[in-house]
Parts: sequence; C-alpha cells; structure tokens
Amino acid sequence: MSGFDEDDAFEQGARASLAARAMAARPAPYLDDLNPAQRQAVERLDGPVLMLAGAGTGKTKALTTRIAHLLNTGRAQPNEILAVTFTNKAAREMKTRVGRLLGETVEGMPWLGTFHALCVKILRRHAELVDLKSSFTILDTDDQIRLMKQVIAAANIDEKRWPARQLAGLIDHWKNRAWTPGKVPASEASAFNHRGAELYAAYQTRLRELNAVDFGDLLLHVLTIFQTHEDVLARYQRWFRYILVDEYQDTNVAQYMWLRLLAQGHRNICCVGDDDQSIYGWRGAEVGNILRFEKDFPGATVVRLEQNYRSTPHILGAASGVIAANESRLGKTLWTDMPEGEKLRLIGHWDGEEEARWVGEEIEAMQGGTRGLRPFSLDEIAILVRASHQMRAFEDRFLTIGLPYRVIGGPRFYERMEIRDAMAYFRLVISPDDDLAFERVVNTPKRGLGDKAQQKIQITARANGVALAEGAGLLLQEGGLTGKGAKALAELLDGIARWREMARTGEMPHTELAQVILDESGYTAMWQADTSPEAAGRLENLKELVKALEGFENLQGFLEHVALIMDNETEAEEPKVSIMTLHAAKGLEFPAVFLPGWEDGLFPSQRSMDEQGLKGVEEERRLAYVGITRARELCTVSFAANRRVFGQWQSALPSRFIDELPEDHVEVLTPPGLYGGGFGAAGVVPASTLEDRASEANVYNSPGWRRMQSRAGQRPVSQPRESRSQVIDLDAVSSFGQGDRVFHKKFGYGHVTGIEGDKLEIAFEKAGLKKVVARFVVAADRADDVPF
Ligand code: ATP
Ligand code: MG
Repeated sequence: MSGFDEDDAFEQGARASLAARAMAARPAPYLDDLNPAQRQAVERLDGPVLMLAGAGTGKTKALTTRIAHLLNTGRAQPNEILAVTFTNKAAREMKTRVGRLLGETVEGMPWLGTFHALCVKILRRHAELVDLKSSFTILDTDDQIRLMKQVIAAANIDEKRWPARQLAGLIDHWKNRAWTPGKVPASEASAFNHRGAELYAAYQTRLRELNAVDFGDLLLHVLTIFQTHEDVLARYQRWFRYILVDEYQDTNVAQYMWLRLLAQGHRNICCVGDDDQSIYGWRGAEVGNILRFEKDFPGATVVRLEQNYRSTPHILGAASGVIAANESRLGKTLWTDMPEGEKLRLIGHWDGEEEARWVGEEIEAMQGGTRGLRPFSLDEIAILVRASHQMRAFEDRFLTIGLPYRVIGGPRFYERMEIRDAMAYFRLVISPDDDLAFERVVNTPKRGLGDKAQQKIQITARANGVALAEGAGLLLQEGGLTGKGAKALAELLDGIARWREMARTGEMPHTELAQVILDESGYTAMWQADTSPEAAGRLENLKELVKALEGFENLQGFLEHVALIMDNETEAEEPKVSIMTLHAAKGLEFPAVFLPGWEDGLFPSQRSMDEQGLKGVEEERRLAYVGITRARELCTVSFAANRRVFGQWQSALPSRFIDELPEDHVEVLTPPGLYGGGFGAAGVVPASTLEDRASEANVYNSPGWRRMQSRAGQRPVSQPRESRSQVIDLDAVSSFGQGDRVFHKKFGYGHVTGIEGDKLEIAFEKAGLKKVVARFVVAADRADDVPF
C-alpha cells in the first residue's frame, strides 16, 4: 500500500478488530522516554490535540513519538498519516526518528512533508479541476517575474515605475491569505496603482494557458479544489485518519484553511507550536491560528509542556528574560533540571572583522577545551546570523584559518547569484578574455541582448578567433546588430574599457572602482528596482562584497583570493561548524551557539522596525528567543561597535535585546585586544576616520556598553579620543626606513623593504611581500598601544 491511489483501502473500514487489539498489545517502550504531559499528548490519539509549549520542551519529540505510536498500535497505516513539517530537512529527520523509535525503517510515509510538497502531490491528481493538466510546471522566481513583466506590459503599464517584482510580492501576499483574484477585498484595491487585482487575474490566466503554477498556487489551487469539490475533499478527509503539524505558529491563512478543511473528517488533528517562536509574520504567518485552535476544534485537549530538556538554566533564564519584554504573548513557565552550566556569554568587539576573528579563534580553542569548558566537536557548534550578509566575514575568516564549515539553507557567500554576477563584472574588467564572465553579465541587467544577439556575438567571436567581448565589438563595427540592443552593447563595451583603464592607472581606490562598476553597469539599479523580499538582502550582500575588497590591494588580488579559497573546499564528511540564519535554525539544537551582530538596526533589523513598528520589534525579539534557545550548553552573544559599510565606518548601538538579558544569567567576556591582552583584529586607521568614529560612536554611552564595562570591572573605554589619537601618526611614513619593523592592521608584523611615494613595500611575517599604503602602517612597538 503506497498512497492514496489504493482507494479500496478506504472502504475496508472493517479493520479486523482482533488484529487491532493484537496491535494495541504490542509493547511501546518509547513511551517511557516521555514525561506525563508528553505522554498524554501521544496517547490521546483521538480528537484534536494542541501542544502549546515553549522551546525545547519536547514538542517535536512528542509529535514524532505520536506517529510511531499510531503505527505501532495499528491505528493508521503509514500512508494514512498526514504530517506537516516546515522544511524537507525536518521531514527527513522526522521519518528517521520514527524509524528509530520503532526499531525498524518506516516504509512509505508519502504524506509526511512540507505544505508545498504535499500540495504538489494532491494537485497532480486533480489538476483538471482547476483547468490545468497534471503535467503542470512549477515556475521558479525568474520565470514568474518574466511572466509578470509580460502581463504588466500587456496592460500598458510602465514596468519601470511599477516593477514586476513588486507585483510578485503583492500577489504572493494575497495567495498567502487564500485570496483568489475574485476574492481580493476592496480594501486592497489601491494596490499597484489600483490595478493589482486586475493584473493578478491576468497573471493567473496566463499561468493556466501555460499549464504552469507558481509556488503560492500549489496551496491555493488545492484549497480551491477542496472548496469547490466536496466529494474530493471528503475522500481526503476520510483518508487522512491522523493529521499532525509541527511549528503550527508559523502557518499562514491559506495553510490554516487547508488544514482545517482536511481535519473536519476524523478530527484527529494534533498541532504543536509556540507563540513565542512565531517568526514568519513578514511572510503572512498568523500566530492567531494557534491561539484560535480551541475555538476551531471545540473539546480539544490542550497540553502544555513546561519542562525544557534542551538547555541549561542559564540559557533558559536568558531567553526567558528577553522574551518577557514582548507584550503580545501568552506567557509560559519553563523550567529545567539540567545542571546549571555556563552563563550566557556576552562580548563586545570593536568591529565586525574582529568579531569574526574572535569567533574563529574561540572555536579553534573550544575543540581542545578552553576557559574550563569541555572540548567541543565542530559539528556541535553553530553560528546563527540575522542577515545572510553577516556570513561573509565568518566564511572568509574560516577559509583563511582552514576551519571547516557549512552554510545551511543557502549557498555560501561567494556562491550567491549576486556575488557571482558582480565578480563576473570585475573579472571581465581584469581579464578581457574571460568568456564565462562575459556571458554572465552581457544581459544582466537586461539590456535587450537576448539569445539571438548573444548567438551573433558567439559566431563573430568564433569566426575571428577572438574572445566574446572582442567579438562583440567586431559585431558592432560590422553593423551586425542594430537598435536598442546595439546601443546597449556599445555602452557595456565602453564601460568595460573605461573601468579597465581606471583599474590600470589606479586613479581611484579599487573599492570605489568596484562600486562604480556595479553602479554604472546598472547592476545595482537592477536590485534597487526589485521589490521582492530577497532584493534587500542581495543589495546588502553586494555592499558586503565591496567591503571585503578593502582587505586587498586591488581587484586582481581579491579575485585571486576568492579563486583560491573557493578551491579550498573541505571534504564532505569531516565535522564542520554550521552557519545559518536564525530563521533557518528553527526547531534545531546545538550544544554551542554563537549569536553575532546583536546591534540595533542589524538585529532587530531596521527594515522590520521601519515597516512594522512595535510589531516588527516583537517579531525580532521572538527571533532572539529562537536563537538563544537553540543552545544546549553554551550560548555566546556578540556585537561590534562599528561596522564598515562602503568603506565608511558606521557606529552601531548594541542591540536593545542585550539590555533585556537578565544580568544573573550573563557573563561578560573581555575581548583579547581591549585591555592589552594581545592585539585583536582591530587595525590602525587614519585619525580623521577615528574622529568620525568617536563622534558617531555614541555606543560608549549606551547602557549596554556601560554595563559591559562595569561588569567587566575594567578600565572603561570612555575616553577613546585621547588614547586613540596617541597612536595615530599620519607622518609616520617619513619616519620609516628600510628594515624598520612595522605593523599593519591586516597583514600583521613585517619589515620595510622598500619605499615608493606614499607606499611601502613590506615583507610581512605571515602574509609575505606586499605593497601597502604607508598611513595604514605603524611602528611595530606601537601596535600594542592601540586601545581597541
Ligand atoms: P522547539 O520549540 O525548539 O522546536 P521542541 O519543543 O520541539 O523545541 P524537541 O526538539 O522535541 O523540543 O526537544 C528538545 C530536546 O529535548 C531534544 O534533544 C529532545 O530529545 C529532548 N527531550 C524532549 N523530551 C524529552 C524527555 N521527555 N526526556 C528527555 N529528553 C527529552
Ligand atoms: Mg520542535
């Protein structure tokens, strides 16, 4: 029996009662691992059950055990259980765990998966009911946008003013609310220049003509089928004897309606969740769904779990302290009988690079046991960031020191689309013959150089035995391309030639040049015009890329570095540190967790505060709660007083969430470089920059920073100006001579081997021979004076 096709099984209602009794008599040793409340949730197999409980209380464990119990007692066949999880990874994990509980592999649980995966299955069976063929294609975001552009153009709307991505976001929002075109409420009528609903309808028509669906349709179409075809719904209602849902707090309206319809059959629905962990409000999740459960399913058994099995009391205390600041919450008690363990560790850094460096060093030390901790394996350690652009600093650092890591839930920084695009531009500027780079950027952003034009370029280049860029130039000369495409191509080639010349003469610092390339090529503008949810993240990644360039002498040096580190792939099976976003970490746990970048604006994110006000801050706070509660033994929160953005220092205030951490559960660590304990990653920078920093850096007056100082019981850094200016010596260049030992913020110690204008050639002890700008260098014996 493999799936729903075996309809006959439906009607075999007369399940042999003797057999059922025999099944029920089977031992259920897995029940012994549960506490009484969990056991209740597992054994109350009939009727609606809600498990509403805090993090780490064993909700997922209970849900998994419930599946095992259903199977073991013969209440349901594997294919009669509908189990919804949030990610495919979670679904696989659940299946394995059920198998482990039963001591055997579980064959065929076709209905255990994500909402999307389950809906694809249902929709393929009934596609014709929504005018599709069962072979429908699922569009990816790119196709979706392309289609929307056509729809917008067909409606005579200027796509420049009303970008397709904005429409995509809007339609997605409507689909999450289960609004088909006809159901979009009048209150939304002004959307997209008053034409949103009309374009939505046109877009759906186009999709049907193409026999295609987008992601949001998967759920919406199935919902429509259920709502309009009672017989179909009834069959599924009968088929799914038991329904189980993890992370219920993050379901959106459409998912909620879908579940509610299906559960009307046997009413055996068990949902588990935690209102404090609702973190997808921005994607349409409605925490109200979980709070409404008892109303929707009268007579529901509500189980509250209070014992946390995951974290130490200090970690739990810290997390509870933070979440207590949220006003809209049910409020729960959590306790644990774990040994007290380590306090949550808090550390402030001078800047983001120092933060990454410190985390790298700390992890290396943790492997052998440090600060009285037990040794940790890399697999036990995770770094959870608020924004994916934060990953770059860690990835770079780890690659440099050879620390194996994996990025979960997304590509690694240099593998991201926008980073590859940007680097293709840089490559083309440095190497005119780089055909792959040319192909990548020639029509990105769109320049009207589609497949045909590109083919012509290919042919010309091949015929003349030259690289594509050169071939493109020849093609233009021959007049082989006309109109808009020709103009755009000429512009691109001119741009490349101009940037190349700028790179050659070095008339502009390479970081600025990189920015110029991205701006003049129209690449930045492409993402600025894009209003999809990922666009802002991509722009931030691009900024992060430009920032990364600062550590290099020129574009070429940077490209070589990236080529080398990308080559430096670590073997698959060795233990690795996990890096992921807080969102991707939902439901997971790690013995040791690092939570970097706790700065206002980054976390809580400025965007979320701007767009949602207090509601946004509360969602961010839940994210902080999710982050802390991922840790079993060790949780380290850090922030940087400064981040470099576009080569400019920006000071940041420690996150407001830091001040919400209860003092009793927090230990403040002192960064190694701060009080003379060795020079950290901070570098020497021009005095003017420092002045800027100091005046912006009201961080020293913030409560979080002051508290750190007083707790650490150390000399406060509250007089940064004098102490810093002492070590800044802009004239230092004149005082250096051949053979002098010097210090550079990036490359460390070395000896001067040559002087050329304002540049010094230095043989660095670790980094080898390099030419660097003299003002970034201080005499070696002064490096230790640097107060940060
Ligand atoms: P989250 O809210 O983060 O999703 P959760 O409530 O789903 O957490 P689980 O992941 O199920 O919690 O469990 C947390 C940890 O506690 C797991 O390591 C699990 O094995 C353990 N655990 C759960 N219940 C028990 C129990 N009764 N006895 C011992 N360990 C338990
Ligand atoms: Mg869970």
